[in-house]
Amino acid sequence: MLNTTLDFDKPGRQQGFLQVPYSHNLGGWANVCIPTTVVARGKGPTVLVLGGNHGDEYQGQIAAMKLARELTPEMVKGRIILIPSLNFPAARAATRLSPLDGMNMNRAFPGEPEGPVTSQIAHFLTTVLFPMSDVVIDIHSGGRSMEFVPCAHMHLVPDLEQRRRMFDAMLAWNSDFAFLYADIAGTGLLPVEAERQGKLVVTTEMGGGESIPAHVHRLTQGGLRNVLTHVGVLKGRERTRASLGLPPVILTQALERENYLLAPESGIFEIAIDLGAKVKRGEVVGWIHHLERPDRAPETIVAPSAGHLVTMRAPCLTQQGDCIAVIAQRVNAKDVLRA
Ligand SMILES: [Zn+2]
Repeated sequence: MLNTTLDFDKPGRQQGFLQVPYSHNLGGWANVCIPTTVVARGKGPTVLVLGGNHGDEYQGQIAAMKLARELTPEMVKGRIILIPSLNFPAARAATRLSPLDGMNMNRAFPGEPEGPVTSQIAHFLTTVLFPMSDVVIDIHSGGRSMEFVPCAHMHLVPDLEQRRRMFDAMLAWNSDFAFLYADIAGTGLLPVEAERQGKLVVTTEMGGGESIPAHVHRLTQGGLRNVLTHVGVLKGRERTRASLGLPPVILTQALERENYLLAPESGIFEIAIDLGAKVKRGEVVGWIHHLERPDRAPETIVAPSAGHLVTMRAPCLTQQGDCIAVIAQRVNAKDVLRA
């Protein structure tokens, strides 16, 4: 069962670990130690900041580490709990899934108290950290498999008041794109459990791939701080896109299965459209070239509906059934915020 060296009720700054028993050949009584920072002072919301839910997504891990090092109690009104590398074994291995149990942290919720390591971490969040939090921030990117136009995103939760608060916090990231998404690949997601508990949940897809441009790091780190200011846990003035001289956010949604394009066959995927660009219905999105029979015409992938290309597969080599592109439709805020 997971143990922690931290006292979450203590004011001030603490650096410690979540410790999950993991017995292996060269460590019979070993624990997996997950670095965790708590900074608390006075009355205010409790905010849980998570990076590395998927181990190969480093933008959020870096942003949470930098913030954890810089935060002092004087900067905080309430409590900020930071776990930069939630799936720590996966982060160390540069993999999406944990190498210890093969589990995807983002399919492990609500988790089990005596289950595999990943499941125990999920269970601790479900039963201890979520209940004490008002806001849950789970920073993702596309990892090694996907490349996103950097965006904050959210589920359309049924509770309209919760949805409105999540929507405002999503926009406080100040990314050029915001994205309403659906779960097409399974259940047991971290944000879904936090949403079920009524929390204000903020999630992102801060680019992707393995090479992260400086501007994506800046957006991840600046967006995180601005959201913390927006929810009132970090002192300072909130910035809006308008105050930064930026055009309004491009609000998109992909709620239908047909928005998520899967590779009809294996091969080498070539994208035909730039990330974030507009796509017309029937327009060519890309091609899958036949590795073994280059003389054959490639399979042409066309857009089933119009919208913006918000994500694409990162590696060119593609297996049948891989998600190769997502085309999201433009939507306006008024429609999003009503039932
Ligand atoms: Zn992820």
